[in-house]
Amino acid sequence: AKISHIRNFSVIAHIDHGKSTLSDRLIQFCGGLSDREMQEQVLDSMDLERERGITIKAQSVTLNYTAKDGETYQLNFIDTPGHVDFTYEVSRSLAACEGALLVVDAGQGVEAQTVANCYTALEMNLEVLPVLNKIDLPQAEPERVAEEIEDIIGIEAIGAVQCSAKTGFGIEDVLETIVKGIPCPEGDVNAPTQALIIDSWFDPYQGVVSLVRVKHGTIQAKDKIKIMSSGAVYEVDKVGIFTPKAKNTGILSTGEVGFVIAGIKEIKGAPVGDTLTLSKNPATEVLPGFKRIKPQVYAGVYPVSSDDYEDFRDALEKLSLNDSSLFYEPESSSALGFGFRIGFLGMLHMEIIQERLEREYDLDLITTAPTVVYEVLTKAGELVMVDNPSDLPPVGNIDEIREPIVEAHILVPQEYLGNVITLCIEKRGVQMNMTYHGRQVAVVYELPMAEVVMDFFDRLKSTSRGYASLDYAFKRFQLSDMSRVDILINGERVDALAIISHKDFAQGRGRELAEKLKELIPRQMFDIAIQAAIGSHVIARTTVKQLRKNVLAKCYGGDISRKKKLLQKQKDGKKRMKQVGNVEVPQEAFLAILKVG
Ligand code: GDP
Ligand code: MG
Repeated sequence: AKISHIRNFSVIAHIDHGKSTLSDRLIQFCGGLSDREMQEQVLDSMDLERERGITIKAQSVTLNYTAKDGETYQLNFIDTPGHVDFTYEVSRSLAACEGALLVVDAGQGVEAQTVANCYTALEMNLEVLPVLNKIDLPQAEPERVAEEIEDIIGIEAIGAVQCSAKTGFGIEDVLETIVKGIPCPEGDVNAPTQALIIDSWFDPYQGVVSLVRVKHGTIQAKDKIKIMSSGAVYEVDKVGIFTPKAKNTGILSTGEVGFVIAGIKEIKGAPVGDTLTLSKNPATEVLPGFKRIKPQVYAGVYPVSSDDYEDFRDALEKLSLNDSSLFYEPESSSALGFGFRIGFLGMLHMEIIQERLEREYDLDLITTAPTVVYEVLTKAGELVMVDNPSDLPPVGNIDEIREPIVEAHILVPQEYLGNVITLCIEKRGVQMNMTYHGRQVAVVYELPMAEVVMDFFDRLKSTSRGYASLDYAFKRFQLSDMSRVDILINGERVDALAIISHKDFAQGRGRELAEKLKELIPRQMFDIAIQAAIGSHVIARTTVKQLRKNVLAKCYGGDISRKKKLLQKQKDGKKRMKQVGNVEVPQEAFLAILKVG
């Protein structure tokens, strides 16, 4: 397309404000798919996304729109995830755009990720256009919400376009706003080719598929492309766009967004954030890539059956190409055997990775309790980063333990402010700022990351009837009174069950954890002693009493099928058991800490 007629934009919003629905509507309006092909949520293509109703991976779609000025424009848009764990994906998508639609639910108003995503877009010099969605709702207050946007975010919003992604009202106005309000790309078709890899994934038949934004020059089928970081050269098989179905176009030109397939078989062949050029007349400079973000939460993940170890490693390698925020390294545990320590952006990310590994790669996995990273200063003056409680040096060797602190931005209607403050105090928070914006209050707290990543979000939602929203980012490490709580089963320390806890909570958490384990560990042929200890000091103890009767006894004389079912049930249950010494410990036990404190 002519560069003056290209518009590259993202749709950003707080979760559930209607990004995906609006995106589908734009596709439908521009005739990208027939009604028959139009599924409920075209863009949320992964099964998992559809089930959870959230968008995990950014997706791109190219559409042709004939505007009221009679000209036809090429619109390349990228749908982005809205959850706090996926902010990284949002900034990646934005790097390919000149503008962003900021979708705000006209009933709900501005929420924490509305603000966070908007600021990310503004920092990247994008033109941000507010869109007031859901105006079909009886509780919609577009004028009030427009004022709220101006007041809280500080961008112009009075007169913002209003629409209903559900009914289709105002969709043409949204498209006109895009064409008029978003600048066309800048770039030189005749300069050496430079294209930014926004996303890459592995297709079993075609090899690596990369989503790219061409900044200068062109990429055509049969071109020899060069990956600038490695110098590797490949011949392009196919180039094209998503409509949203993949469509070969034979060429991608300056300003365009689309896919490149070049028979790259090695998974790490086309890394996200890298620059593509042509081997003939190559560019000399790489484009600014993406900043690597550090995982916030770590957990040990182990195959239930050690036979699956190789498959597990293979799956992680494939997944990490598709999800560059995924970090992993081999780890072993005396309780769980060989596995990997995996770094996640947050708890949702952790859940999703575990589910993808199990579904897409058919693995049975055991995950240990997640932990944040601590900075530990040893008596020898060494600074070590500890992402696994069992790696904490012996107490006598530790000078200081510093825990990660986040800055949390919370938006909450005034009537729930008291509840939110109570929760923040309970979680060891320190208030930094508080401002009133009409009905809403913006509060800023410094909170220990360990408290935030566990159940804070759920607690915040329930204490505010769903109205409070949260955005947070790591700020610094801070000296804190932390200690390791060990769990001993029949006198044996189980490395995979150790936790790091603030001293004020260690006693309570140790006791609760021991109680929880007592409920979760099934009774066996002998007594099982469960102890929680700090160093050599036992802080709690419980016992799982030995099993008296044979479980099958109550089926004695009963019908056979019931007996079979019971045996099958035990077998299924066993799949998720790990042998610790002579005790069988179920998967839930390793996550028991999540339900504590
Ligand atoms: P996303 O998380 O921002 O992608 O939000 P979705 O597009 O998944 O929408 C969240 C929910 O809001 C879904 O149940 C949609 O059906 C609903 N929704 C989206 N747009 C509208 C709208 O204009 N009006 C109404 N009433 N509901 C909408
Ligand atoms: Mg969505």
